[in-house]
Amino acid sequence: MKPRVLEILKRLMAFDTVSSESNMALIEYVRDLLLTQGIESLIVKDETGKKANLFASTGPKALPGILLSGHTDVVPAAGQAWTFPAFQATVQDGRIYGRGSCDMKGFIALAIDAMLDAAGHSLSRPLQLALSHDEEIGCVGVRRLLDVLHLAPVRPFLCMIGEPTNMQFVLGHKGKGSYRTYCRGLEAHSSLAPHSVNAIHVACDFIAALRESQRQLQEQGARDADYDVPYTTVHVGQIGGGRALNIVPNLCTVDFEVRNLPADNLEQILAQMQERAEVIVREAKKLSSVAAIEIETVNVYPGLDTHPSVEAVRFLKNFAAPDTGTAKVSFGTEGGLFNHRLDVPVVVCGPGSIEQAHKPDEFIEISQMEAGERFLEGLLGSLKH
Ligand SMILES: [Zn+2]
Repeated sequence: MKPRVLEILKRLMAFDTVSSESNMALIEYVRDLLLTQGIESLIVKDETGKKANLFASTGPKALPGILLSGHTDVVPAAGQAWTFPAFQATVQDGRIYGRGSCDMKGFIALAIDAMLDAAGHSLSRPLQLALSHDEEIGCVGVRRLLDVLHLAPVRPFLCMIGEPTNMQFVLGHKGKGSYRTYCRGLEAHSSLAPHSVNAIHVACDFIAALRESQRQLQEQGARDADYDVPYTTVHVGQIGGGRALNIVPNLCTVDFEVRNLPADNLEQILAQMQERAEVIVREAKKLSSVAAIEIETVNVYPGLDTHPSVEAVRFLKNFAAPDTGTAKVSFGTEGGLFNHRLDVPVVVCGPGSIEQAHKPDEFIEISQMEAGERFLEGLLGSLKH
């Protein structure tokens, strides 16, 4: 591994960029580093001004670029049994330990190094870098950056998201919608229960409706055998309601998620759930007009489904190891958002394994960093005139 890559990685890992914290210090470090080679950065801050995305480009401005993308935030280390310091890179036994080494500051270090390298050359296409914040809490931060890039006159030729895939090509993942449902009833003394509307009972009917949706999706929805669970899933993860046994409850919340195959339309699925909710409410309203089911969207990100034969995939294959396969994965990435907002083909490919992500003593194999380095060297070599 190039000493400069390790140096950059060490600096990146020393910033505590847990999603709840500011990532400004890291962003400013990257901005200043790119500027040493004359590369200007576009900084897109969030509404608090404490977090930011960064976009930078080097090479001919008018042509579609190769966009390397990563998220700067990491999951918390607190509460995990770490034997290595979490926010410091420890190099030992062919591995680099520390939070974010594999998810995904290792890739970011490689991408920055490639940008610095590219700056000194004349390129046939631009090489670009996009860094986001708040990916780990639902791909929140990158949306503002995409709002800006969406308006640019030229879209990238392809986007490579460097999430840890052991440098395999991940071309698909499911989308996800998370929702909080407020089921409302009418409070009353429990002895008068039949004259009132029990919010927990309404919630139970709604959950039964969600399970009916799941059954239908499983039997009649899209199927994709590349996934462990080859259909769209519906799942209730949390439920809350009631104050005391002798009170008919007036509120029950139901948190559920839909993880959809890209071929199943999330909005249609939700509209159908809404219809089922209306049937339940119509019945409950016979007892009280306050009966209601309100579904609130907490977070949505789209799935990814890049076709293996698109030009972007064939182009990137030129720089991959001969045994590189294509796969679909169960975890989500910002890839679906890049694809939907910018209409750009997305390949998820980066060093390290998702097995090591989010765990105590997270690490990346140096051999994986080297594989990533070879890949980007080949890619950059092909762009140099
Ligand atoms: Zn990640």
